[in-house]
Amino acid sequence: MFRRVYLDNSATTPIDREVIDAMLPFLTEKFGNASSIHFFGQEARGAVDKARHQVAEIINARPNEIVFTSGGTEANNLAIRGLVEANEKYGKHIITSQIEHSAVKEVCQDMEKRGLEVTYLPVYEDGIVKTEDVKAAIREDTILISVMTANNEIGTIQPVEEIGKFVRRLREQGKKIWFHTDAVQALGKIPVDVEEIGCDLLSISGHKLYAPKGIGALYVRRGVRLHAQNIGGHQERERRGGTESVPHIVAFGKACELAKINLAETASNLKNLRDKFENNVAERISDIEPNGNRENRLPNISNISFRSVEGEGLLINLDLQGVAVSTGSACSSGSLEPSPVIRALGRNDELARGAIRFSFGKDNTEDDVEYVLEVLPKAVENLRRLSPNFQAAKK
Ligand SMILES: *Cc1c(COP(=O)(O)O)cnc(C)c1O
Repeated sequence: MFRRVYLDNSATTPIDREVIDAMLPFLTEKFGNASSIHFFGQEARGAVDKARHQVAEIINARPNEIVFTSGGTEANNLAIRGLVEANEKYGKHIITSQIEHSAVKEVCQDMEKRGLEVTYLPVYEDGIVKTEDVKAAIREDTILISVMTANNEIGTIQPVEEIGKFVRRLREQGKKIWFHTDAVQALGKIPVDVEEIGCDLLSISGHKLYAPKGIGALYVRRGVRLHAQNIGGHQERERRGGTESVPHIVAFGKACELAKINLAETASNLKNLRDKFENNVAERISDIEPNGNRENRLPNISNISFRSVEGEGLLINLDLQGVAVSTGSACSSGSLEPSPVIRALGRNDELARGAIRFSFGKDNTEDDVEYVLEVLPKAVENLRRLSPNFQAAKK
């Protein structure tokens, strides 16, 4: 029997059965428009309100600080563009990191085209931004800092609480500066609390948390001014026009409720699987380099560079044996560029190209890990046998 093991949970997760059950009635008999006055509308409105509470609760926000979006990408766009457009008169400088998701990075690059200046902070060998660097980069005209809560490729957790505390202090002194964090990967794996972090804007997404694709949210702290990017409807308190996707919102609410209840247990299970995997890989495969800080990272991500191996080749080889993993590389202009995140760690070409992300999810089992530990060493060995570099290095 052909076996499949899904170790790409940072790309997307399967939908939880309980989440499907919660959303199904809103795809069938409970089809109302949440803006309608009649029974059907009120039924939908009630469901959206309940979900808003559930989403708010997992990040310790107030329900009216939640803006539902189509996902993490839209939340990041709304956060950065929306804040800049509403507050450009206070300054034209943004600070971010070199390892942001493209939904932050490319929006920042677009802001540069609009005449803003952006500082991209380094993350050094361990993949973590230094708070001191953030402080040093702040200028008179800095209006926004956007640093992710945890990275999607190497899982490193950023010092968002320190940054948040500092930004708050500046604001108390009267400075016009705001802090956004992309918490899409962190949610459900580590505690994410907007009060602890002290952020003004925070992005989350459903499909990384066992809800469907196409739903996410932006937390907007009370009092923060934001220009809507979708206009033409009055939904989401004028911050995101468009008829709400009630089934998706209900699903996201349920997923957040479950994630909050199960956080400690899920995190500990994920860490056990991940650590078992890493310890065995280190024993069975030579010439590997784990990427990013070992301690300060999400419990479910393992990113490893295999010397003298092309990541793409290994990915395809594993896929043929039913194991799904990912590389962070992007196919740009026909050539495979190694992942910018691995690059930002200062890895050389060979190690950057040989990086693979294994990301565990709550449905993975010890048997899954055993299976991967069976096929991975052979796959690496086969690829290295074909690699002239590796043979030469061994002589
Ligand atoms: C997946 C992801 C996003 C994008 O979210 P979508 O819902 O897929 O648009 C943004 N940021 C991070 C860190 C992610 O991992």
